Amino acid sequence: MQKLFRQTMILGLNSVLNCGPHVSQRKLVKMPNGGPDNCGTCGFNRRNRGVWRNPVPDEQQLSFCEIRGLTVLADHWTYCQNWHTRTKKLIGPIYASGLYENGYRRIPWHGAVEPESIGAGACSECGKTFADGIAIASVESARLVFCSNLHYLQWWKRQHPEEDAPMSDDIWEH
Ligand code: SF4
Ligand SMILES: [Zn+2]
Repeated sequence: MQKLFRQTMILGLNSVLNCGPHVSQRKLVKMPNGGPDNCGTCGFNRRNRGVWRNPVPDEQQLSFCEIRGLTVLADHWTYCQNWHTRTKKLIGPIYASGLYENGYRRIPWHGAVEPESIGAGACSECGKTFADGIAIASVESARLVFCSNLHYLQWWKRQHPEEDAPMSDDIWEH
């Protein structure tokens, strides 16, 4: 449902304004239910020029995280702990909005690779088929796909055994 919502928002406004997805999301989704503490409202986003919840971001700039050095296209659906600490020393991973499972969930990026929402597939963890899932690109093989936030997170933890993803803690409990 969330995936459809995002896509509808992006496609709808893009067709009207013929502009990038970061703009469409900001225009239409001023405070997503996934949480207001997102890159779109973060002072470290170049558009916001150091102002958290900036009501007048620089419309000419792409959403770009100045402390992590990357462009964030889905800025209103991307999160990290530095939003809260407002410190430049990086804390933990970046998070995407995962599958809607009894509420909005946050799942960590695989380094600089953002997990994506996808349609039907068969889970790389458990083999179960699904109608809506998560995919992560792989340079060495076909992309990996997952039936649930939990199975993505289990895979992520094996790839990042020394890292924690506290914004995903509620996923382990479901
Ligand atoms: S990744 Fe974190 S620090 Fe960077 S813009 Fe997004 S919330 Fe802010
Ligand atoms: Zn699975």
